[in-house]
Amino acid sequence: SKPIIAIVGRPNVGKSTIFNRVIGDRLAIVEDKPGVTRDRLYGTGEWNGRAFSIVDTGGIEIDGEDEIMKSVRMQAELAVEEADVIIFMVDAKVGLTHADDEVAQMLLRSRKPIVVAVNKVDNLNRRDDIYEFYNLGFGDPIAISGAHGIGIGDLLDAAVEKL
Ligand code: GDP
Ligand code: MG
Repeated sequence: SKPIIAIVGRPNVGKSTIFNRVIGDRLAIVEDKPGVTRDRLYGTGEWNGRAFSIVDTGGIEIDGEDEIMKSVRMQAELAVEEADVIIFMVDAKVGLTHADDEVAQMLLRSRKPIVVAVNKVDNLNRRDDIYEFYNLGFGDPIAISGAHGIGIGDLLDAAVEKL
């Protein structure tokens, strides 16, 4: 079976936007199990001649800060278990948050290959917005804009290289 890339991060950073761009129309049908699988979408992608499965997480809307963080944490744990590479997505417009730091700690402990994608860098004037994300400790963050289709190739280069 194909290697797995999982996208994790807080709600609203743009995970599903990127997932949809990467899979095109290759959404995989997963058995309709209640619970966990309802909150994970699987698709397939291909880049530089490498085929992979890609997982979007956190699709179910939940209310309340505590419940949201519980879900983000659980999705990160599942990604650590099943993924070969994790795309950790953050939001350049909001900046680095406490919740990002918390997820980063979990991911650092896992020793899985991680690529930090800084989304919503919608134009080149905003590139300085990525520097604070070096503090997460995963090396060079990659500036992307899911909305404008900027940097997706660079992101996939970095992710596929670590498969
Ligand atoms: P998710 O909750 O992490 O899956 O995030 P979504 O993909 O659902 O996106 C959340 C919101 O951010 C939506 O309103 C998107 O239109 C918006 N968004 C996604 N990518 C970008 C981007 O590159 N730039 C901007 N400005 N907005 C974006
Ligand atoms: Mg989503």
